[in-house]
Amino acid sequence: ETDPIQASTLEYIPLSDNALTVLRERYLAKDDQGNIVETVDQLWARVAREIAMVETLYEATHEEVASLEEQFRRMLASRTFLPNSPTLMNAGRPGSHKQYSACFVIPIEDDMQSIGNAVTAALLIHKSGGGTGFSFSNLRPKRDRVRSSGGVASGPVSFMKIIDGATEQVRQGGTRRGANMGILHVQHPDILDFVGCKTHDGQIRNFNISVAATDEFMTAVKEDRLYALINPRTKQPVKQISARLVFDRIVEEAWKTGDPGLFFINRANRACPIPAMGEIASTNPCGEIPLHGFDACTLGSIDLAKHLRIQPGDGEYELDWESLDQTIRLAVRFLDNIIDANDHPLPQINAMTRQTRRIGLGIMGYARLLMMLGLPYGSEEALRFTERLAHQMKAMAWRASAQLAHTRGVYPAWKGSKHEQEGRRVRHSYVTTVAPTGSISMIADTSAGCEPEFALVWFKHVLEGRKLPYLCDLFEATARREGWWHDDLIDKIAANHGSCRGLKDVPAHRQPVFTVAHDLTPEQHVRVQAAWQRFSDTAVSKTINLPCTATVEDVRHAYLLAWELDCSGITVYRDGSRASQVLNLGKAD
Ligand code: ADP
Repeated sequence: ETDPIQASTLEYIPLSDNALTVLRERYLAKDDQGNIVETVDQLWARVAREIAMVETLYEATHEEVASLEEQFRRMLASRTFLPNSPTLMNAGRPGSHKQYSACFVIPIEDDMQSIGNAVTAALLIHKSGGGTGFSFSNLRPKRDRVRSSGGVASGPVSFMKIIDGATEQVRQGGTRRGANMGILHVQHPDILDFVGCKTHDGQIRNFNISVAATDEFMTAVKEDRLYALINPRTKQPVKQISARLVFDRIVEEAWKTGDPGLFFINRANRACPIPAMGEIASTNPCGEIPLHGFDACTLGSIDLAKHLRIQPGDGEYELDWESLDQTIRLAVRFLDNIIDANDHPLPQINAMTRQTRRIGLGIMGYARLLMMLGLPYGSEEALRFTERLAHQMKAMAWRASAQLAHTRGVYPAWKGSKHEQEGRRVRHSYVTTVAPTGSISMIADTSAGCEPEFALVWFKHVLEGRKLPYLCDLFEATARREGWWHDDLIDKIAANHGSCRGLKDVPAHRQPVFTVAHDLTPEQHVRVQAAWQRFSDTAVSKTINLPCTATVEDVRHAYLLAWELDCSGITVYRDGSRASQVLNLGKAD
């Protein structure tokens, strides 16, 4: 057994049983009978080889390709960086889709052809492991005129149901259902229907939904003013409505079901370096990547907790900036290669992705990093550290993109971009993000994205009906090292909702270091998200976890704060508010 506290940067930490289970169930190649036909080492090698091969397009020699392949392989095997699930599942596998991205947005225009095309696109993308986002804002409202039939339109929500039903029928690689994001502009006349659609339409099961909230709307909420609902077909205002009334409904529904979130559409477009490509109207399913229609993004995330070193002298941990920079450079190259290796299910997506050359370099293991550094998640001290870290990492990532531009050229849509105006020659329109890393963090045996540990003892439903037990190994290792471990602690923590706060068995000065999701106030969650937003060129995937007892007011406060702190969007989740939740606190039964 390796002590996780002793294992340092780039040392190969053995896979846990949980990581192996996840790999076996979903990632290792299987034959027609479902027998696993590769080892974990072969998985890393096949992905590394496939992505390194792209170097030949850039006239790399045989030796250069081989050297890069070996660097990629080591990066994957050490789990210092992992690409998103579709890359791990599909890359280099004979007969599989050469589709390596997780995030897509498909545009929908106000006609039947376009809606039919969107359904087809969703099916093909889900089949290859990606998730799709849609803005329904262009669709004419319910009961609006349909000239060709003389009838009336059925509205955005009804079309969402069609995509939802289609999604239900495709299971990705036999294990995961497709995921969708549905977005409606706050000025759409059907906005109230949309806001309540998850409650009223039990059928909509495969969508997260978000309201595209403008700055004007948010200001109207604060000042308690009216705003105009506009018919997208005629572009005419249909009525004035109280912003507070709409906002009240949004936060009440979010309190009840977790949906809708908010997508701050003006912010996303202000931050867009390629406005000539049109307006961004939607994000991918988990919200971290706002995308133009037919654009896609491949994510890859660096495990921060595997970039530590022991300080000479006092034996404390410190961040290893040098190895972090190395991983960032290699990861940016890896993701750049994927753009060329990708063969998407639609030709428009191939064309678009090669214009914008977006990549989504993210992080995971943030909560573990803080634990190892002894910084309590959500504390002022941790926030200050995070802002500095986020700032530095972003600079490193863009430097890596500029270096690639030097040898490979700028991204084609660079002409006319803000990057051109600023005189920055870069390889990618977007580089950084913070992804949820729901599955790859399990493979990496680390905490997800920028989230806190959910609990110190918990059970995760991975596949239908199966639960994997987790005990925070850092907590156990610290307790053993400091001599306060005893086996009863597991039950005591489970009974204490997964937290060690207030347990007299745990030294008081250690309790804050092992902060878990429900020890935090909603405001702390939002502040961590806002700190990581500094790193992210896009958005940040973060769930603002609320206790079951949280009020509608808490949700309102969090939603307003997210806008004030210049986040790109927000999602909350109140414990127990959905019938089947992925993470369960405490005991398995
Ligand atoms: P992973 O850890 O599996 O690589 P993440 O949890 O980081 O993936 O999610 C990244 C993105 O992948 C999401 O924002 C979404 O676009 C897509 N995605 C996640 N889960 C699914 C799913 N079940 N089906 C389709 N796409 C998904």
